[in-house]
Amino acid sequence: MAIATINPATGETLKTFEPLNDAEIATKLDLANQAFEQYRKTSFAQRSQWLQKAAEILEQEKTDFAKVMTLEMGKPYKAAIAEVEKCAAVCRYYAEHAADFLADVAVKTDASHSFVRYQPLGIILAVMPWNFPFWQVFRFAAPALMAGNVGLLKHASNVPQCALAIEEIIQRAGFPEGVLQTLLIGAAKVADVISDDRVKAATLTGSEPAGASLAAAAGKHIKKTVLELGGSDPFIVLASADLETAVASATAARMLNNGQSCIAAKRFIVEEAIADQFEKLLLDKFLALKVGDPMQADTDLGPLATPDLLQDLDQQVQVAAKSGGKVLTGGYPISDRPGNFYPPTIITDIPPDAPIAQEEFFGPVALLFRVPDIDAAIKLANDTPFGLGASAWTTNDQERDRLIAEIAAGAVFINGLVKSDPRLPFGGIKRSGYGRELSIQGIQEFINVKTVWVK
Ligand code: NAP
Repeated sequence: MAIATINPATGETLKTFEPLNDAEIATKLDLANQAFEQYRKTSFAQRSQWLQKAAEILEQEKTDFAKVMTLEMGKPYKAAIAEVEKCAAVCRYYAEHAADFLADVAVKTDASHSFVRYQPLGIILAVMPWNFPFWQVFRFAAPALMAGNVGLLKHASNVPQCALAIEEIIQRAGFPEGVLQTLLIGAAKVADVISDDRVKAATLTGSEPAGASLAAAAGKHIKKTVLELGGSDPFIVLASADLETAVASATAARMLNNGQSCIAAKRFIVEEAIADQFEKLLLDKFLALKVGDPMQADTDLGPLATPDLLQDLDQQVQVAAKSGGKVLTGGYPISDRPGNFYPPTIITDIPPDAPIAQEEFFGPVALLFRVPDIDAAIKLANDTPFGLGASAWTTNDQERDRLIAEIAAGAVFINGLVKSDPRLPFGGIKRSGYGRELSIQGIQEFINVKTVWVK
């Protein structure tokens, strides 16, 4: 895949970039390594000051950064602004809490003095996706840099200007040179970078094949990885739910980021007693969405990020229809305009055991399933290779407790749409990956937990 800015709303190639050659990659690795030797000795207070400054830059220039995101990957501009604000929030969160999260922990033993000390590992490679091109990077970088690690960012090939802008923000914030560097390289070079002795660990957010490939390369060199992969998250609506609120959230949850979010609700599992009503209300909401230019303030749904994604989604919908699915609205790419536009789509009646029902639909397509009761809802929700974040709607306390206990996922949100929040850990189980980002758990992923025993 070429490293380039191609406007997904028009198909126009705006800028192309030469990938780094081997000598240039080696220079960046040298610089990262030298930077770590000094940076590891800086205080939490100093790192916190730099990260607060990064938050200020993000806030002051949020419109510029948001425009770059929308231009490169097509998310609605208003959502891009919110994403920059969230990046500022995660910077502030770790700037304020990292020192507490990583403070020595005393433990009573037979020593005169024993404790646990948290120390940075060194260079961490971050392989990141295009769908939240700022947020995904900052939620890695804020804790990693506060912990004293340094980062190398291999961003997705379709968001090079976002990647370069992020590197510049960190530099302008005052962090020493080399603490976070962007590597403009293709996916094929990732294994080489991981094999370098100076790179100590890696994190990847993206697809299953990419995650498996990175983990295999890292495993060969005994290096830790964190993987945030795909999802086909359930959105369960039981008969006791507040239906109007559930439908409004269902629409937002599916359309978030033009339908391209790992934690977007993808399978809507509705109790039979209210299924007709839910279906009708959801259809009304989908039909009311405004599809169009993502730079316009009133646009609800912009284009998919690349032509390949459009083609893949189209194919999946055709397979779903052939497998017995009934398309209530949408169902074909929008062909009367340039760009990668796909309309809001609802598919009902897919047999739950059809292979296509197990796949992640990465676009504005909702799959609707009817179930007789909560037992069937939980069973269907869990009948997936993924386990990222589930949303479930009920006003009944017993139902709520069962959903919390029995849903197999990294997160369960009751009466709310699944979202990430710096204060709460984020991550999946099963084929959605392993490890956690955000919160105290996130900052402790790339750390040497050093046991100290003194007599
Ligand atoms: P992708 O193709 O896996 O790309 C993600 C990143 O991995 C890009 O930087 C890509 O580089 C790189 N990459 C691709 N193949 C690789 C390989 N074999 N070895 C090393 N690196 C490789 O993912 P995508 O299709 O852009 O993103 C969509 C997927 O990400 C969905 O499944 C979505 O659910 C998941 N996602 C998960 C989370 C989460 O937090 N769990 C968040 C967002 C997205 P190139 O661009 O150069 O190919």
